[in-house]
Parts: sequence; structure tokens; C-alpha cells
Amino acid sequence: MKKFYSPEIETASRGEIEKIQSERLVRQVRHVYDNVELYRNRMDEAGVKPEDIKSLDDLTKLPFTSKQDLRDTYPYGMFAVPMEDVTRIHASSGTTGKQIVVGYTDNDLDMWATCCARQLTAVGVTKKDKVHVCYGYGLFTGGLGLHDGSHKLGCVTIPASAGNTARQLTIMTDFGSTVLGCTPSYAMYLGESAAKAGIDTSKLPLRVGIFGAEPWTEEMRQKIEESLNIKAYDIYGLTEICGPGVAYECTEQKGMHVNEDYFIIEIIDPETGEHVKDGEKGEIVFTCIKKEAFPLIRFRTKDIGVITHEKCSCGRTFVRMSKPMGRVDDMLIVRGVNLFPSQIEAVLLKEGHSPNYQIVVDRQGSLDQIEVRIEMEDEQFLDTTSKITKTEKELQEKFKSALGIKPKVRLVAPNSIPRSEGKAVRVVDKRHVYGN
Ligand code: ADP
Ligand code: ZN
Repeated sequence: MKKFYSPEIETASRGEIEKIQSERLVRQVRHVYDNVELYRNRMDEAGVKPEDIKSLDDLTKLPFTSKQDLRDTYPYGMFAVPMEDVTRIHASSGTTGKQIVVGYTDNDLDMWATCCARQLTAVGVTKKDKVHVCYGYGLFTGGLGLHDGSHKLGCVTIPASAGNTARQLTIMTDFGSTVLGCTPSYAMYLGESAAKAGIDTSKLPLRVGIFGAEPWTEEMRQKIEESLNIKAYDIYGLTEICGPGVAYECTEQKGMHVNEDYFIIEIIDPETGEHVKDGEKGEIVFTCIKKEAFPLIRFRTKDIGVITHEKCSCGRTFVRMSKPMGRVDDMLIVRGVNLFPSQIEAVLLKEGHSPNYQIVVDRQGSLDQIEVRIEMEDEQFLDTTSKITKTEKELQEKFKSALGIKPKVRLVAPNSIPRSEGKAVRVVDKRHVYGN
């Protein structure tokens, strides 16, 4: 049977992991210096030669890479192998600007599939499982990433792709999916839709969910676990680094193990670029030490997170990262208060409200206005206007005490906030209209 738990690597001592990382880093730096003009120029400007990088300790001598660098070299400027060695291309969704194109060699695809197979294995999935992939297929990495991991493990892979909720529920019921992969917001929606369709999820064989590609909260996890009657696990990744599987949760559900034999993670202060300590929040930075076609060095993800080197009770020693708490660039600054959509969501779920919400930020005169729109549940929709107004006021106070700001709160009709089959659109920032 194929095995994707490798204790010799996943439970190696820190010294052993650092030894692997050091060797691979030295080789990788030579590879990018020789093959990618941007890296050669950057290193020359910084006065660093490949031979100066002798171990992991020298990592901080290397310059950072930013998303802007990838845009500037669009489409193929960061590829480090000849095009004839590239066997796959993916692209990021382009939600935050011009899309980014990334490439993979056969070895890269194999490594990526191993990352996803490790995730599945870590949460108890075996080749006996039926893995229903409803992340979108196509240039987006979610679909094919999990697909390849499931295939590598030898599971029955169901390549449903995203969309058509009624059909997804039919597949889930009739084909007997045991594992579901999609965005957490879509998992919520599938749960709601199953209930509406009168499907008793406790009677289905579905038992595990692999959810990622967007921020979600512990409260949301709980809702999904209840509505779909499963255990829900987090998976993290980004197109620039490979796609899903850069980090994976184990059955402990206490942070995601980074595949450290393939990626080095750093947490930096976004202002100074200096490392912060374990347990302190900062920007997540990755270096790909095994990839061939598109190996980024010290890539600033703009995701905010925390890491810990404490040993996990599952026995794995790979460093764990928290759920990202938002992106540096979708952090809302409203009247000087830093705010992440996930904080709003946590309050809503704690107070028993629907997780279908949207945050609208606008500017009146020179003042930022923030409005949180929350869908009512069907029963609530029948409440009197005065009761609804009262609920809105109460929620406003809850936001004030939890977040230090008092947004406008508006309860809206059920199903009036657009659903997304991929990543949910949580923030509508109208301030950009005025050129900010
Ligand atoms: P795009 O930047 O176009 O949205 P990706 O699809 O590659 O491209 O998205 C990667 C981003 O998605 C990450 O940088 C992170 O912000 C978010 N993300 C991925 N997985 C998770 C997760 N498990 N939890 C929170 N955010 C995630
Ligand atoms: Zn663990």
C-alpha cells in the first residue's frame, strides 16, 4: 500500500530538518541565480553570491520577493527551467490585481501531490475513501491540487469541480462521497442546502472535510461539522508556492504543519522585515527549496499568521502555523482601527447569527463608514420591524465591545447576499471609487 506518512521526515528532530533545509537551500539559491534574471540582479545588487549561502543561517542575507515582482515578470520571467521541461501551468485568480502565472515540472507536480497526500493521510483518509473534489478545476490550483493528492494516495477521486449545488448533493448522496474538499464558505452553503433539501447528513457516509483557500473561523468549523456531520480540517496554500498543501492540519486541529522538507517558513514584521518570535503575529514568508520550475525565494505572502515549534501531540515535528488571520492587504483600516473580516465573522457566529454576511466600507466626507449586512434566518425574517431594529442595535454593541468600532448593522432578507462557489466576497470597499 502506498504510504504518505513518512515519520523519518515528519517527525524528524529540528536538527535533522534544518540539515535537509540547509542542503536544499544552498542548491536552490545556485539554481535561481543561474536561471532567473531577477534573482541574479537582486542578489548582485545586495552583494550576495550563491557561495555566500552555506546553510539555513544565511537565509536572511537573501532579498525578499513580492507579488509585484511576479507581475513585473509576467508571464514567464520567473521560470527557472526551459519551457520544454514545464508540464503544467496554473494561475492565481487575480482577485487582487493582474493574474500570476506559475509553472511546474513533473517533479514539482509529484512533490505537490505528496503534500496533499500527506494532508489526507494526516486526517485518516486512506485509499478506501471516495474524495469528492468540489474546489474549482482549471487554472485555479484548488481542484487539481487536491485531485492529484487523492489520486496519489489511491483514493476514488470524484472530480466534481465547483458549482451546481443540487448536483453536488446528488453526487454526495448517490456516489457515497466520504471526503469533501471545497472552500469553507461553500461547505457552509452545502450544509444549508442539504438541510433545505431534507437530506439527513448523519445518514451519509461523508466523514471528513478538507477546507481552505480562504480565511475561516473556529466557529465556522463548528457549524460545518454539525451541518455536514463530519470532521472539518484546514488546508493552506497559495498558487505562488504550489497551491493547496503547503501546510496541513492533522487530527489534533491545532494548527497546520508546514511541509518543511519542501518549504521554509519565516514570520516577519511587515514594517522592518525582521523575524518575530514564535507565537507573535507577522507576515508569512516562504522559500521553496525543492521546486524546479517556479522556485520563489523569501516570498512575502501578505498573509498574517503565527507559528509554533512546540511538538504536536500527533507526533509530527514540522512547525505549525495558525490559520492565517487575514491578509496584510485585505486588512481593513476603518477610522484607524485595523480590522479583519474574520473578526466580524467570529462575533456573528458567537451571537448565533448567520455566517452569510458582507462588509461594506464607504466614505462620507472624510469619515469612513462601515456597514455589516447579515442575512436573517427564515424565522427571524418574520419578526416585527421593531424586533429587528432591536437585534441590530444589540449586535452593534457586541461589535463595539469586541472590536472597538461601532459599525452600522443591517439585517437583510434570507438569501439576499450573493453566494460564491469559490471564495466568498466578504468586503465591498467603495472607498476605492474615490481614488483612495
Ligand atoms: P489569489 O491570491 O488569487 O486569491 P490563491 O488562490 O493562490 O490566489 O490564494 C491564496 C491565498 O488564499 C493565501 O495567500 C491565503 O490568503 C488564502 N488562503 C489559502 N488557504 C487558506 C486557509 N486555509 N485559511 C485562510 N486563508 C487561506
Ligand atoms: Zn499534528
